[in-house]
Amino acid sequence: MSQTRFILNESDLPKQWYNVNADSPVPPAPVLNPQTLEPVTPDFLSVLFPMELIMQEISTDRYIDIPEEVREIYKLWRPTPLIRARRLEKALGTPAHIYFKHEGVSPSGSHKPNTAIPQAYYNKVSGTQALTTETGAGQWGSALSLAGNFFDIPVEVYMVKISYQQKPYRRVLMESYGARVYASPTDRTQSGRAVLEHDPESPGSLGIAISEAVEAAATSGGAKKYSLGSVLNHVLTHQSVIGEEALKQMDMAGEYPDVVIGCVGGGSNFAGIAYPFLRENLHNGQNTRLLAVEPTATPSLTKGEYTFDYGDTARMAPIVKMHTLGHDFVPPPIHAGGLRYHGMAPSLCALYDAGLIEAIAVPQLATFEAALTFARTEGIIPAPESAHAVRAAIDQALDAREKGEERVILFNLSGHGHFDLSAYQAYLSGQLQDYEYPEEAIKAALQQIPQVAF
Ligand SMILES: *Cc1c(COP(=O)(O)O)cnc(C)c1O
Repeated sequence: MSQTRFILNESDLPKQWYNVNADSPVPPAPVLNPQTLEPVTPDFLSVLFPMELIMQEISTDRYIDIPEEVREIYKLWRPTPLIRARRLEKALGTPAHIYFKHEGVSPSGSHKPNTAIPQAYYNKVSGTQALTTETGAGQWGSALSLAGNFFDIPVEVYMVKISYQQKPYRRVLMESYGARVYASPTDRTQSGRAVLEHDPESPGSLGIAISEAVEAAATSGGAKKYSLGSVLNHVLTHQSVIGEEALKQMDMAGEYPDVVIGCVGGGSNFAGIAYPFLRENLHNGQNTRLLAVEPTATPSLTKGEYTFDYGDTARMAPIVKMHTLGHDFVPPPIHAGGLRYHGMAPSLCALYDAGLIEAIAVPQLATFEAALTFARTEGIIPAPESAHAVRAAIDQALDAREKGEERVILFNLSGHGHFDLSAYQAYLSGQLQDYEYPEEAIKAALQQIPQVAF
């Protein structure tokens, strides 16, 4: 009657990833070469990624087998628990039932190892000698450092400078796993030097750090490949283990969610929990609302333009069709570093455009307020990114209270906030602020998007 944690056995660990491209009602827009503005060839992508990941990127197979080597490592923390937030429900006085999937139990503290492990694995088997990547808050860098270490591949991380300063222990964690970490913009790459020349005090951004990591791989003569922690199809596919497990766990709880919630930076943890439920909507007559939550400071879904844009600031990464704020938009320095990205996963944008997914934006202070309510009832300090999902889940529960509805709410707790305590300190001492919607900066950045013929 009062079960709180819904725990699966190791044998329930999914054997396949779910690829939403098999079910998307909209055919994916072409991915364009940033130099030619023509559709990319596998050749272009193979400078950056191993062939197996490129095949997954363009695959329309509904399911992709998870290699046994990857499942073995997943077992270090998966299946993750599904938890009924009974104490939060009580504190809110809501008739709603609130469940959350706890991805913060992974070794590096977020959902990101779900894709870091397979990416390192496919690179290993194809002979990659080193991996380059960027990191914002440090969660992705930590996850890839962990994965590189497991598969014996050196990892080079370009960390957004403001996060490098705000989160020194994330760097130590990455270095403990054996990675090398640089504060981006650096003077190691042409794109980094260009930014520094223009603005020596640049706080950096994910867009800039991506440029540096892409350049480091592209100029390595094939020795280094690049690894991306979100946005791309294969990343979102790997994250589907979250939703597949959650489906089984909701079944154990004898309920089915009316609404599924996740925060969105590039879209991977939201897609991870939501896409398997979208499949049930499309094929099995379910009618679950899927709600993506972004910061008001980087509102790419709710305020961005749906068009082709570069994935990075220096225009080295492929051009994709997405909701974008403009590739050279530098977001305000909110503490949810993992959400400071100008674009969004193309598959998610297409589904949003088709009305199959909803989105809202929430301001920084309200997310920290929700995070503390959650910490004081459920005991877990959420990552500032995840706090956006917590905010939306609490608002859903309050709305259900107002309407007297027994709404079933499921949200993804994408990570814990143990490395984000300086952000909490700033909040607790009244030093955090909300940022106005950066309308002018976004307008200016949108002037710079490429004009393409697709
Ligand atoms: C990276 C990160 C995010 C944002 O990335 P998505 O690809 O949108 O999931 C959200 N939460 C946490 C904890 C993260 O580390």
